Amino acid sequence: MLDQLQQIEQIGLTSLEQVSDEEHLESWRVSYLGRSSPLMQVFDKLGQLPKEERPLIGRRANEVKRALETALAEQSAVLQHLSLERTLQSQRLDVTLPGRRMARGRLHPAMQTLRQIYRIFGDMGFQIYRSREVETDEFNFQLLNFPPNHPAREMQDSYYIDTGTERGDNPVLLRTHTSPGQIRAMRELAALNPDNPPAVRLILPGMCYRYEQISARYEIQFTQVEGLAIGEHITFGDLKGTINDFGRRLFGQGVRTRFRASHFPFTEPSAEVDFECFLCNGAGCPVCKYTGWLEIMGCGMVHPVVLQNGGYDPARYTGFAFGMGPERLTMLRHRIEDIRYFWANDLRFLEQF
Ligand SMILES: [Zn+2]
Repeated sequence: MLDQLQQIEQIGLTSLEQVSDEEHLESWRVSYLGRSSPLMQVFDKLGQLPKEERPLIGRRANEVKRALETALAEQSAVLQHLSLERTLQSQRLDVTLPGRRMARGRLHPAMQTLRQIYRIFGDMGFQIYRSREVETDEFNFQLLNFPPNHPAREMQDSYYIDTGTERGDNPVLLRTHTSPGQIRAMRELAALNPDNPPAVRLILPGMCYRYEQISARYEIQFTQVEGLAIGEHITFGDLKGTINDFGRRLFGQGVRTRFRASHFPFTEPSAEVDFECFLCNGAGCPVCKYTGWLEIMGCGMVHPVVLQNGGYDPARYTGFAFGMGPERLTMLRHRIEDIRYFWANDLRFLEQF
């Protein structure tokens, strides 16, 4: 019996040295210290031994058990240390490194310009009116005085939507400008009091779409913002005053404006507005192509047909409208040379604003 215990101890300790991970350590424990291990069987048999042998065998068996348990605890500590070392090696963590900065979002550069425009016109009493991006030909063109086959449509080819039904000359399309919102807003307001429609002071912003050859100057999607003011006795003088004030607030007190006769189907008379170049103050520079002027917006007095279509009697009401492109304004201010940057979702560009 004593020899057997000697053997159990020796084999147990030797085989423990071979154990190299925690999983095998557990199976070693079951084999050498578990319920049905040879050592435990010795304890079970103690009762059957002659009385005088029992103390000696019992003491020896306990010694072996303690020796194995101690060795197990030591080996377990060694393995845990090794495993920690391995983890530290494979998942290096340098606590002295500064933390990673959280990426902070910000407004898109075109939206920053748009918000500035909102603030300026908000101060003048204009409210924001948002209109749908999917329109019918009727609202996008016809009610704005672009009859079917009108040559001005050439400039605004769109993306048409297959609705599955024959719609004749009123197909569904992505709006090419924010102006259909003028008709929707006028009709909504006129419906409040058809005999005396209320005055209109609105800013209409939003995304527009055109079937364009994409280049540094043209995109198939872009934002536009336009203004609409309707009331009694509104004159071209009011339009000029409003736009001059806008220019001074956006570019600085001294900025001069220039109105050039133009043509749009939905305004009459119509004008293009140039602002004195804010980079060279009119002296001439590459941005203004040495003219001293920057072409910023189109405007005019609302065409009587458009007033009529919106529910405002053109014999009684007059109004003006103007529109511009926030991307173009942003390009001029930051000297960005390619409009494609705006919707390319490249953070290297967007993070600069
Ligand atoms: Zn200039």
